[in-house]
Amino acid sequence: MRPFTYSRDNADADAAKAGAGADHSFLAGGTTLLDLMKLDVLRPTGIIDVNDMAARHGGIENRPDGLRLGALVRMADAAAHHDVATDYPVIVQSLLLAASAQIRNMASLGGNVLQRTRCSYYRDTRWAACNKRSPGSGCAAIAGLTRKHAILGVSDNCIASYPGDFAQALVALDATVEITGPSGTRSMRFEDLHREPGDTPHVETNLQPGELITAFSVPAGAWTRRSLYLKIRDRDSYEFALASAAVALDLEGGRVKQARIALGGVATKPWRARDAEQSLAGVAVNPDTAARAAKVAFADAKIHGDNAYKIELGQRTLQRALLQAASMEVKP
Ligand code: SF4
Repeated sequence: MRPFTYSRDNADADAAKAGAGADHSFLAGGTTLLDLMKLDVLRPTGIIDVNDMAARHGGIENRPDGLRLGALVRMADAAAHHDVATDYPVIVQSLLLAASAQIRNMASLGGNVLQRTRCSYYRDTRWAACNKRSPGSGCAAIAGLTRKHAILGVSDNCIASYPGDFAQALVALDATVEITGPSGTRSMRFEDLHREPGDTPHVETNLQPGELITAFSVPAGAWTRRSLYLKIRDRDSYEFALASAAVALDLEGGRVKQARIALGGVATKPWRARDAEQSLAGVAVNPDTAARAAKVAFADAKIHGDNAYKIELGQRTLQRALLQAASMEVKP
């Protein structure tokens, strides 16, 4: 590991100013950052520890108008929260399926949504060609091993899949993200936080230098209790998704008033499947309508080498998630 400076900041403005410095990184749980520093993939010259801000940014509030999760809440604490489990089950399921108990105890919600891809060419510096790690160097994956790579939102410069789970729950629930930075505070749709790779795969989010995520807000709605997260992976514990679906349904008289769908494991960012949502409007969810929505969701899929199987796997995952969500017993 390379030498770096370490500081702790309690004030938002001080941290933002320090974080705007060249090659500085914020540290919360450190479960992604320290791994990648040891692998020499990330090389920050300064670390700003923000854990002292937990008094301001580490709370969970379940209010009539929605849920607010501080960015410094640990994954384990959000997953164990009774109100979140009752009113927003997709959030708890996504957190429990995301990581081992040890990592859930350490990792913050803010850090979780910013975790980096598991593309093995990105994480192994012996591969020179990786546009995400070294802009302009090429992409070793495209002609390489692609079994776990994305089929939605890909570009000619990067096909790495987004690795998280919690982010899909936030996208499906129309969450917003609160941000503090050198220019003050702002918020944006969580759906807009992550970027598709395009020509600049190394720019993964719309955060500006020095900006720090402070909270997530999830609006209350008729669909939040009828929500779930389904994750398909190579093994049943502590593994990243090959395909996943976060689904939230608002049903009226057995028909879909509104459907919300986000896909994981198959896309370069947490993926909102709006066309699939539209295809369900006004119909009952049954094997036929769920299969049709799943087909629509993957209409623009682009495969590379070994990942063609993800189209059918992703479709089946979404179909099953929709059927399970429609059959949930939900208390008013
Ligand atoms: Fe790098 Fe993206 Fe190519 Fe992986 S897929 S090697 S992260 S450019």
